[in-house]
Amino acid sequence: MESKYHDTLSDQETLVNNMLAETSFGTFFGISQKVFEQVWSNLTAPDGNSAVYVSMEIGADLDVFNPVKKYLQQNEITESKNTEADLLIKKILNGPSKIPNYGGGLGILAGDTLKSFAACKIPVAAISLLYRKGYFSQLVDSRIGQISWSMDWSPEKTPSLYLLKNPSYPDKPLCIEIPFFDEHDKTVMVYAQVWMKLEANENLDFFVPEFLLDFSLPQSPEWIRNASNNLYDSSSEKMKAIQRRMLGAGVIPLMDILGLTAKTLHLNEQHGVVSVLNLIADYLLQKLGPEYQSTVRDKDILEAADSVAHKVVYTIHTPVKAGHDRFSKTLYAGLSHTVCRRILALLAPDKENPSLYNFTEFAMRVNRAVNSVSRLHRDVTQKQFPQFAKKITAITNGVHHLTWISAAKAEVFDSFPELQNWRQNPAVFRNAKKLQKNKKFRTYLEQAWKHDSEKLINYVNGMLIEHRHQTEETWIDPPNFLSLLHEEDIPLKPSAFTIGFARRFSTYKRADLIFDDLVELTKIIRELDYPVNFLFAGKAHPADEPGKSLIKIILDVQEELYERSKGLAKLVFIPNYDMAIAKMMVAGVHAWLNSPKRPLEASGTSGMKAAMNGIPNISILDGWWMEGFHDGETGWKFGLDTPLDTETLSEEPSALLYEEDSASFYEMFPQVIKEFNDPQLRKKYIDKCIRNISLNIPIFNTHRMIAEYCRNYGLKLSPPVTKKIKGLQELYQSEI
Ligand SMILES: *Cc1c(COP(=O)(O)O)cnc(C)c1O
Repeated sequence: MESKYHDTLSDQETLVNNMLAETSFGTFFGISQKVFEQVWSNLTAPDGNSAVYVSMEIGADLDVFNPVKKYLQQNEITESKNTEADLLIKKILNGPSKIPNYGGGLGILAGDTLKSFAACKIPVAAISLLYRKGYFSQLVDSRIGQISWSMDWSPEKTPSLYLLKNPSYPDKPLCIEIPFFDEHDKTVMVYAQVWMKLEANENLDFFVPEFLLDFSLPQSPEWIRNASNNLYDSSSEKMKAIQRRMLGAGVIPLMDILGLTAKTLHLNEQHGVVSVLNLIADYLLQKLGPEYQSTVRDKDILEAADSVAHKVVYTIHTPVKAGHDRFSKTLYAGLSHTVCRRILALLAPDKENPSLYNFTEFAMRVNRAVNSVSRLHRDVTQKQFPQFAKKITAITNGVHHLTWISAAKAEVFDSFPELQNWRQNPAVFRNAKKLQKNKKFRTYLEQAWKHDSEKLINYVNGMLIEHRHQTEETWIDPPNFLSLLHEEDIPLKPSAFTIGFARRFSTYKRADLIFDDLVELTKIIRELDYPVNFLFAGKAHPADEPGKSLIKIILDVQEELYERSKGLAKLVFIPNYDMAIAKMMVAGVHAWLNSPKRPLEASGTSGMKAAMNGIPNISILDGWWMEGFHDGETGWKFGLDTPLDTETLSEEPSALLYEEDSASFYEMFPQVIKEFNDPQLRKKYIDKCIRNISLNIPIFNTHRMIAEYCRNYGLKLSPPVTKKIKGLQELYQSEI
């Protein structure tokens, strides 16, 4: 007995040793020394066959995907004799699991993308910023609406985040210097230390380093330290411009200091486009020598732009104006060098306002490939940028299937040989078609779904009761009217048809659309006499007043909805939306609602997360749903599918088509409720779930999406990786 015990212990020590990489930048836990060296040599190889992915935000919380922790738990590793490893193990098992450096879809897409790069072993490094106060935490009070609360989190305590050491001075952190300039071209140096999130794949045999620049250092000026606090701080235009510059101007110095050789910079949105300014300035310096600032001609700048364009790949994410940075020329004069301003004046003109630089225009101009995020969005973008129409292609977004498929559904998928290897290759879900009539599969799927619904509804019910008790202790009015009912009337039933809606609150997403006519909505529910739960969540940017008022509308309709439906309809708002809440919602609801004004939702990804769990969407024909709807096999559509013209792009309240699209929803809705509840029709509902699994998972995953990105990158990859990518590319072509 005793010796067996010791054997396992030493086996475990071997496993632990294989998870340690001791490097000149510090000790990392989760991958072996060999894997570290292999990835690092790819990223620093002279051929430059790797990519650097630049994003303002990365959403990759550890509570929704953490292969290192999973590995420790599976092997029952809780400690090590190696003191350094022991600390790291305990941190991973018990440490905080949120990295609140994301605001919404863009950041989560970035995280999902990087996880798929790691899974497919594509050599990529990501660069983003570290925000000491994250985005913000959301409190909700029924009378006030959203209250934004500054959050505290500690990168020091967060597992999988490592402060890089300076290889020359191991007891000091690695630090980069970046020049900012005042209006007299006088240099103001700012400094950043570098955190690395180790994004390991499921097999722990590859990783993507995510480098987060942390400008909160005492040697930097105060205005820089302030700008390192909150993601998307919009307290002033200057703050916004500084944050963009911190990201963009950090890219080349960081690559230089780490020795990253990537010949491809991928801009996830135009936020980091200042990196392209640097490429152009570097080219001019090489060509014209150190005096280039006084000798450079416009012609040289245009030539430089054409020459560096082959290094840049750009993904545009939205047709909505607020998503595109425009800065006033006078303001920008206080931050950047005269030559930079000349470059911007030539390459970043704003068509509507000559006193602005337009960063989207700049990113559109200087690249070797630009992609939109769905087919419909491509058509819209080509209309918005007719001069670049020829080069704008479609690569439809996806989500990382290993992050978003619930544990209960994963267990079902694991038990059917038809779906073998689904973790490595989401294409195998096409075989779910063969399971369409398999009684066992249908039963298991329904059971897993019920499990996920109960988990979600238990969470919601617990929250409602907790808020009720909190009213006795604090000044806050509970967000949900239901918390004030008699205790026995509060709970939602997990068996009741439950619709989910969760995303950023922004006017074009029209969170309140289906409540436009409460009389009509409650009439439908009363006549059919089935209970319906509506679960809503999402943050509005603290400066977005119309977005915040949408949250208030959701809170304000709760009571009337409940009363008019005679208690059948319960609407709940879940505060402080994040990835963990998203994961619970997209797996536990019975339908996912998406009601944007077409064609302003470029892609949308939460609906894909639902589809991964077999949940049908009820959606406006916009963004990805144009491709995922499959003539009604996977869910429902509603709303006007008007042709695209400049008129339809309006974000004006009067052009948001509330009346037309809500009427269309009310017309379609009874059919959905019946199909879910009527035992005769229920079969059709389960068919839709399985169709989501067989038709939509193989398409709307980030493995397929990055395989399409790889075409734009043109990297030379090893034969097995090339083969894998080719297989994924053949799954679907966004560009038709
Ligand atoms: C997926 C996700 C989003 C994006 O949802 P969309 O449907 O693309 O708007 C935003 N926030 C969180 C927390 C998410 O998980």
